[in-house]
Amino acid sequence: MKCKPLLDQGDMRATRVVGRACRRGGRGTYLLVLHLTRKRTIVVGTIGRVMFRSGFYVYAGSAMGGLAARLVRHRRTRKPCHWHIDYLRRRARFRGAVAIVSAARLECRLAARVRQIAGRDVPGFGCSDCECRSHLFWFVRDPLRDSRLRKVLRTLGGSAYLVSSNPASGRASEFGPTHTRNSPGSTVGR
Ligand SMILES: [Zn+2]
Repeated sequence: MKCKPLLDQGDMRATRVVGRACRRGGRGTYLLVLHLTRKRTIVVGTIGRVMFRSGFYVYAGSAMGGLAARLVRHRRTRKPCHWHIDYLRRRARFRGAVAIVSAARLECRLAARVRQIAGRDVPGFGCSDCECRSHLFWFVRDPLRDSRLRKVLRTLGGSAYLVSSNPASGRASEFGPTHTRNSPGSTVGR
């Protein structure tokens, strides 16, 4: 697997870069990283009112029909709220995303591993269609700077790409390219 750090200057660029990364089928799993700068109570669809403490939120999802398009959608704030994450997205900043190109649906396995390194989770969030306790996890510090997250990605399989909206934080030194074995898509995205 390679984690390719990307400087992302907008939706078009995100589409192009992730689109290239996804050219082998366009399917995959992703982590969306949002930053809530202050505590907020948000009404989240079927869950109802949820108090979100300030900090970073990592959401595990999958897009087996179009990974690039999904990530572009998550960047937008003006859209109908369809998923739980859309309600939080409206109030939080887009910090970045990790696209994991893989034909296998890895989101629940990924959620379970992220849960192990997260400070908390938000019960019932984003897991209406599976048996997981949650697909949304809270971190006090930026998880994209957390070496434990890189470790999670390294052991997951697939090819991971970082998509960041913050040019100052998208440098290679921060997330770093990682290399592992069993990487069917390791040449993708170069
Ligand atoms: Zn799940």
